[in-house]
Amino acid sequence: FAPWDDPQAQPLIRFQGVSKAFGTFTAIENLTLDIYPREFFALLGPSGCGKTTMMRMLAGFETPTAGSIFLDGRDIGHVPPHLRPVNMMFQSYALFPHLSVWDNIAFGLKRDGMAKPAMAARVEEMLRLTRLEKFARRKPDQISGGQRQRVALARALARAPKLLLLDEPLAALDKKLRHETQFELMDIQEKTGTTFVIVTHDQEEAMTVASRIAVMDHGQLIQVATPAGIYETPNSVYVADFIGDVNIIQGSATAVPGGYDIAHAEGLPPIRAVHEGSLTPGQRVFYALRPEKIYVSAEPDPSRPNQQRGRIIDIAYVGNTSTYHVRLSNGQMVKAQMTNAKRLSRRDFGWEEEVWLSWTDTAGLILER
Ligand code: ATP
Repeated sequence: FAPWDDPQAQPLIRFQGVSKAFGTFTAIENLTLDIYPREFFALLGPSGCGKTTMMRMLAGFETPTAGSIFLDGRDIGHVPPHLRPVNMMFQSYALFPHLSVWDNIAFGLKRDGMAKPAMAARVEEMLRLTRLEKFARRKPDQISGGQRQRVALARALARAPKLLLLDEPLAALDKKLRHETQFELMDIQEKTGTTFVIVTHDQEEAMTVASRIAVMDHGQLIQVATPAGIYETPNSVYVADFIGDVNIIQGSATAVPGGYDIAHAEGLPPIRAVHEGSLTPGQRVFYALRPEKIYVSAEPDPSRPNQQRGRIIDIAYVGNTSTYHVRLSNGQMVKAQMTNAKRLSRRDFGWEEEVWLSWTDTAGLILER
């Protein structure tokens, strides 16, 4: 499933050069993006980057100031919200407190004037899909938070929208329930085949549920890729830093056989790296290295590449992994993470202990911005 790699695939949603200004403030700037049918697409970015504005334009609550939004090839820029095959599930769920679960789910169908038998069949189907059969007669205040969340989902899907917008849908749930619900959302999304667009602050959540993630900043798309693409080949320090933990070492690149040396990295021995594409000799670059790519050992080993000496300043033990905060010879701090099950030496390292860090030539990425 990778329609974005298929030049023949038709997007469900196309943003074409879309801008949105509020007075003199530009919230979205000349943004172009395709979202394909059956995608679970995540919009990710810091507060104020324009995620909600994107959702509101899809829902029809906001109109672009420039550019066009297409749904199934039709310009929907001026189609009012209720005439779009789009539904939105809000963070607060916005359930009707005086209506039963059944009536909450039936609400939109009733308003559409659906015949009673068809409506009952549809509501039952939604109850089964979200495993709420037993709670049909209860009111929202007589069920748990997780169940309320599923009612909101069932109601949002009842009218079979082509596109479902989810605005921080799991923000109110505690961590464990949130985790379970993520898998449930993925399962329901797959069963219904509805395209989902989710806004979330939680990068782990986006990584878990999404087919692709758009990382935004100041009304612009910085990178759109699969979770693995975003994590393993971020296109900038901004994205590398936004998703997961990363060490950034600044330096300048010098071409050497088979790759580049990152030298002048503030007094460190050169770091060997490979890089697709070419760099100008002496070009200032950022070397991005994930903590889990670093190997920590007590002794130097000349057979290992990219050896750096350092001293352990802090250790965060979290059961399955330990993260070592290591000060390198030039004073720069880096984080190195080792899984405890696979740690070769049986003893742990200690505070203030001198250690050797090493990593392969392909472990890190050279970023130009
Ligand atoms: P958050 O994660 O905090 O919800 P967001 O990424 O969803 O943030 P938006 O709500 O899309 O951000 O807002 C983007 C920018 O546009 C913000 O700077 C916001 O203040 C501004 N903005 C949004 N709506 C309006 C409006 N109706 N009038 C003026 N400015 C607005």
